[in-house]
Parts: sequence; C-alpha cells; structure tokens
Amino acid sequence: MGRAKKYYEAVFTDSGTCMIGCGHKHQNITTATACISQPGGYVVSVNRWGKFRQFNDEEEAEFQRVIFGHDKRRDSKVPLGLPHAKNI
Ligand SMILES: [Zn+2]
Repeated sequence: MGRAKKYYEAVFTDSGTCMIGCGHKHQNITTATACISQPGGYVVSVNRWGKFRQFNDEEEAEFQRVIFGHDKRRDSKVPLGLPHAKNI
C-alpha cells in the first residue's frame, strides 16, 4: 500500500540509560518482537513524526500475545482455557 505512517521498533536500554532502537521500520508488532535481541528489550510504536508513543490496548494485547505465545487479553469475553473456535 505504500503507507508507512506508523511503524514499530524493537528497543532496549543500554546500561539503563540510553534507549536504542533496532533501526528497522517493522510493519507489525510480531516482527518487531522477533527482532528483540536482548533480555529486557521491548517494542515501541513510532508515529509518523518519529516519536515513540505508548501502545494502545490493542497493541499491548498483541505484544503480550507474541511475547507469551498466547492471547492474554484482559477484556476477553472468552473464559481462559475454553476453546472459542466453535461458537456456532
Ligand atoms: Zn528490527
């Protein structure tokens, strides 16, 4: 589509003082998370002005899901542990 107004970067802190981004422009949280190369690293969203910004709830859930390997949405209406693929 060619629209890259927002992207994600894997970041980590160097000695707890300096935040260093991976330098890529990841189009989604999944690939940015896979790019984390150090313990304690995390992912930030970068807006079109190059400013880091906080995840919204949706992005946070996505990040948690990638990190932990399963969906841990806080507002999920589906009880944990129950399959939800066969509603009908
Ligand atoms: Zn990267």
